[in-house]
Amino acid sequence: MVSPAVSGSEMMEQDSYFRFSVDNAIEMVLFFDQEGRILYANDKAKTLLGYEDLKDCHITEIFPASFQKEDGRLVIRCALGQTEQDMDAYRKNRTCFPVRAKIFQNEAEPSIYHCMADDASERNYLIRQNDQADQEMEAAMKMKSEFVANVTHELRTPVNGILGNARELAELETDPGKRRLLSLVERGCSDMNAIINSILDFSKLEAGKFTLEPRKFNFRNMVDYVKTNHSNKITEKGLDFFVTISPEVPEYVIGDELRIVQILNNLLSNAYKFTSIGKISLEVVRTAQVKNRVELFFLVIDTGIGIAREDQDKLFKSFSQVSASTSRKYGGTGLGLNICKQLVELMDGSIRLDSEVGKGSMFSFHIWLELPAKEDGDIVDVVTRDPRAQLHIVQMMGGPGAEQVEDVRKFGEPGNLKEIRAKMSKLSLSVEMENWEKAEMFCETIRQLTQDAPPKIKSAMLHLKMAVQKGDYEKTMASHAALQEALEHLTEHTEEA
Ligand code: ADP
Repeated sequence: MVSPAVSGSEMMEQDSYFRFSVDNAIEMVLFFDQEGRILYANDKAKTLLGYEDLKDCHITEIFPASFQKEDGRLVIRCALGQTEQDMDAYRKNRTCFPVRAKIFQNEAEPSIYHCMADDASERNYLIRQNDQADQEMEAAMKMKSEFVANVTHELRTPVNGILGNARELAELETDPGKRRLLSLVERGCSDMNAIINSILDFSKLEAGKFTLEPRKFNFRNMVDYVKTNHSNKITEKGLDFFVTISPEVPEYVIGDELRIVQILNNLLSNAYKFTSIGKISLEVVRTAQVKNRVELFFLVIDTGIGIAREDQDKLFKSFSQVSASTSRKYGGTGLGLNICKQLVELMDGSIRLDSEVGKGSMFSFHIWLELPAKEDGDIVDVVTRDPRAQLHIVQMMGGPGAEQVEDVRKFGEPGNLKEIRAKMSKLSLSVEMENWEKAEMFCETIRQLTQDAPPKIKSAMLHLKMAVQKGDYEKTMASHAALQEALEHLTEHTEEA
């Protein structure tokens, strides 16, 4: 070892622990002075650089690109301090190897420099190997995705051909037995189309080629559409089905409506598939709002077979099903939840599962959506502009069972009125709304409830909704009076009947 001629080495001699550590460090350690003379080198440095002794050597011989001598002065061409940098170190035999190094100026003794460096040959080799493996894997994935996309695309054409022909034949066929067979063909084709679509989505998501298509849409109409899609199937199975949207969920949002529908369809189809007794519910809540972005939280809850703790994590991975017997019994590709997870993540959210075997499952996810710009109808602004935002509209005071909105949905149909009267103590009066936003939502609910009502009520309701949307207090009150009159007239009429 070189005998340090300066106080750095004296310091080390005073501190034998420190010296022991530096001598035996796994990286090479060099001390040199401001002229570049090496004062100290640990064993690792000597081994790596191929010197028996580095005494009288110069730092420019070891790192010629980073240290140079100009007019007898040492010129430093690398960073000093905590920065880790890649440098080439030269051995005694003039071969070189890459190192990752830090160079410090001694704080107490600025004329002394310390160099600590690690042999990076192995690391660089591994990085190169890794990069190569990554590139090869990426190319293989790309080929696989393209292949899958091509095959599924090719499959689509014949499946749709069969589907179209089966539908046409079913229309012409009068024999019930044959019609039943044709409807089975139709169903098979639809199932096949669903699988093809899942595989296409999955391969696009995996290849990072999937893009969302955000558009402004009416959130409640979207949920209504999902509800209609599943309602019959679920209730025919003898299950209850509840859909709740909390009032603070905005009427309009900007997002990829189709993909949100896809996620909900998948979760509700699973809930239906794995539940034979009890109920299924879908709830939507607004959980946060930051500027013009809103976070919506969705819960799909069932009282079905549930999922064991140890199986829960793997479900969101592709092609995962709880067990082979599950897939035999219930079918499916095991792609649905993985696609849901990836879609939810594309919408800046996450999905989770809480479940207990035999009790049921709760899939919940949150996503971020944008709110439309003010000119697109920012109702909140209307609220602040109009201090008279206390609005009286139509009240639906419920008696026992009034919460069963479904029963009221067909309000106005003769066959339905009797049932409504039995369940509701009072059907139409007035309700106090805190602001225009709530008023608009309430109007939308009433509009939906009165969809099957006589035309006079429907048009009165539409006028009321338009007036509320405009935030026009006078017109709203007038439309409200007109609607109330129509409702009263109808109630009198029914009572007479
Ligand atoms: P699949 O097309 O097979 O239904 P998914 O990814 O949608 O694919 O679901 C994967 C598996 O997760 C299902 O096969 C089932 O084992 C389990 N699973 C999903 N949802 C439920 C649920 N609501 N109740 C019980 N098990 C479920």
